[in-house]
Amino acid sequence: MESVMKNRYECIVIGGGLAGSTAAYHLAKSGYNVALLEKAQGPHHKVCGEFLSFEALSYLKEMGISLNEDSPAIKYFQIFSPRSMASFTFPFPGRGVSRYNLDEELLNNAKNAGADIFRGSCMRDYHKQEDGFFKIETNTGDFYARHLFMAIGKHDYSREHKRQGKDNSYIGLKTHIRLKSLSEQYKETTVLFSFPGGYGGICPVEGGLMNFCFVIDKDVYKSLNSNFDETISYLRRSNSQLDIVLGQADFVEALCAVGHIPYGFLRPPNNQEGVYFLGDQRMVIPSFTGDGMAIALSTARNCVDEFDCHQKGFKYLVGPMQKILEKQMRWALSGHVILKYPWLTDMCRRIPKLSPLLIETIFQKTRVSMMKDIHDDRQSTVNYSRR
Ligand SMILES: Cc1cc2nc3c(=O)[nH]c(=O)nc-3n(C[C@H](O)[C@H](O)[C@H](O)COP(=O)(O)OP(=O)(O)OC[C@H]3O[C@@H](n4cnc5c(N)ncnc54)[C@H](O)[C@@H]3O)c2cc1C
Repeated sequence: MESVMKNRYECIVIGGGLAGSTAAYHLAKSGYNVALLEKAQGPHHKVCGEFLSFEALSYLKEMGISLNEDSPAIKYFQIFSPRSMASFTFPFPGRGVSRYNLDEELLNNAKNAGADIFRGSCMRDYHKQEDGFFKIETNTGDFYARHLFMAIGKHDYSREHKRQGKDNSYIGLKTHIRLKSLSEQYKETTVLFSFPGGYGGICPVEGGLMNFCFVIDKDVYKSLNSNFDETISYLRRSNSQLDIVLGQADFVEALCAVGHIPYGFLRPPNNQEGVYFLGDQRMVIPSFTGDGMAIALSTARNCVDEFDCHQKGFKYLVGPMQKILEKQMRWALSGHVILKYPWLTDMCRRIPKLSPLLIETIFQKTRVSMMKDIHDDRQSTVNYSRR
């Protein structure tokens, strides 16, 4: 253990989203001296569809997180293209939960496990010193750590630092809405709507609210003067079911937005010695899969395992994890292309046997369930072997 001097830690996690808090929790539980730096001062909304897949739930359960009963179980999935509709029953239900509450609960969980949490502390840059420690420069002073866990999502941290992945020109927007008569019909269903230039969805969350979130091509958004009302009118004109939903929606809070979504980004393993990349820093899967949060939780869990193995003199084979992520990404990108072009969605839908098969296959192939087996196999020589 490192001696505890001011702002000096064995491990520092940057970013207090799902990936960061999960890593800090597992590091603290494994006995490491750990701090987490989060730039936001307090709870905040995030652009996310807020559908927690069954796999994500199993990672939360492992950390002792049980969701509020008010957060609905999601059993069904429907997809509406401009001209057709398909539905699917999840083999295991997911849950709808607002990130405002979930991220806060995970941060508290990490704190209770023994991690030091610094709110309002934004990393501006980091570099490795001669003594082997990383110096982390923040707006609240310098921090030092032997090991760094980068969990800053899709964000960058300095002008010089290049964002990960290609900018594939999508922006994401999210808010919460209250539906009138339709809220009963959709209380256990998450719905995906495709439209020319993007797709979006609704998902029930706590308090009888619905998450409404969509991704739209930047050029299409610009052509709508980057204006919320014009964008909503465009969505209503483009998809008749979305028109019905938005026609009875009360928008209960301001929209939050994120630019530069590098769908398809997958970081190669062992990028920088002593630095571990988790969550969206590791991989950015197309949002329609509803598995980004499961990936954030699982990559955090895996990175801590990998780190712990190195510390204890075990060899950790990252190959199995990387292969699972690569395969999952290939399938997710194919689904993304289908949704991006509504005529293609309609075409798949028109071939009666193809449509359910396609939805089911894409659903299964874009899950991180296999990653869980890596942890469960912790002592197996397939994944770990002594140095
Ligand atoms: C439109 C859209 C819809 C989505 N829908 C779903 C869905 O329905 N289900 C699902 O499972 N996934 C969904 N996702 C994916 C999911 O939201 C992300 O994969 C997940 O949030 C990644 O978690 P993270 O912890 O890596 O990053 P984040 O949750 O983004 O957390 C990063 C944290 O780092 C902090 N930070 C950033 N920079 C710094 C810095 N320099 N110093 C300190 N702190 C910093 C931020 O404030 C933030 O709290 C969606 C994504 C998008 C874009």
